[in-house]
Amino acid sequence: MQTFNLHTHTVRCGHASGEDEAYVLAAIAAKIKVLGFSDHVPWSTAKLFTDRMEMNLKDNYLSSIESLRQKYKNEITILSGYECEYFPDLVDELKLRKSEVDYLILGLHNPEMDVRDFARHNDDEDLLDYARLMEEACDSGLFTYIAHPEYFMKGRNSWNQRCIDVTHRICKAAEKAKLPMEVNLNGMRYGLQNYGELGDRYAYPFYEFWQIVAQYDIETVFGFDAHKPVTLTEDFRYNKVMEILNDLSFSWIEDPFSIIK
Ligand SMILES: [Zn+2]
Ligand SMILES: [Zn+2]
Repeated sequence: MQTFNLHTHTVRCGHASGEDEAYVLAAIAAKIKVLGFSDHVPWSTAKLFTDRMEMNLKDNYLSSIESLRQKYKNEITILSGYECEYFPDLVDELKLRKSEVDYLILGLHNPEMDVRDFARHNDDEDLLDYARLMEEACDSGLFTYIAHPEYFMKGRNSWNQRCIDVTHRICKAAEKAKLPMEVNLNGMRYGLQNYGELGDRYAYPFYEFWQIVAQYDIETVFGFDAHKPVTLTEDFRYNKVMEILNDLSFSWIEDPFSIIK
C-alpha cells in the first residue's frame, strides 16, 4: 500500500468535515509517512462556496498546515497544496497560489467558474472542452499530477467513441508532460451509476479509461481524496479499486518527492 497521500481536503471547501488535526492523526494511524493537504483552491472570481474555500479562509488554511507541520514533524511529513481547475484566463492567479504551497494537483471540475461542472455537463460536445483544458493544463507545467482524470464519467451514462478519443488526447498530453495520473480511492462515495450496456459502475476508477492509460508511458499514484479524516484509514478502498483494475498493470509511484514540482 502507498505510504503517502497528496489528496486531502479540509472543512473549508464547504463539503468536507473534521478538524485539520484529525486528518493528521488519521494519517499517522494509517502509517502514512507523507500527508499533503490539497483543498479546493480559492478563486478570486468564485461566488459559490460549496465547491471550494473562500479566499478569506486561505491564510488560516496555510497557517494551520504550517503549525501542524511543526507539531507533528517527528511523526509525519506534512505538505501544503491545492486541488485546482485550469482556467486559461486565471493562470497568473494560479501561479500565485502555487507560490504559496508545496504543490498543485489538477482537478478539472469546471470549464467555467460556478456555472458548469463536468459532472453535470458532459455530453459529447462538453467532452471536447474537457480534453482541450486538460491539454492546456498539462502543457502549463504547473501541476504535480492529474486527480481523477476520468471525472467526466461521473455524470455520464455511456462510454462511447468520443470518450475513447478524449481519453487518448488526455493520455498523449499527460505522457508528453510526464504528468502522473491519480487512481482515485473515493469514487465510490457517489455510489453505483448505470452505464447502459456496461452495467452498474462507480464513476471512477472507470475500467475502460484505465485500459487506455495502460497503453501509455504514464506513472500512476493513488489518492484518497479524503473529505473526512476516517477515509485515510480505510484500506478496503485499495482492494475495491484493484478489483476494478485487476488485469491492468501500471507503474506506481513510490516516492512522492519524485513527482512534486
Ligand atoms: Zn471535494
Ligand atoms: Zn479532491
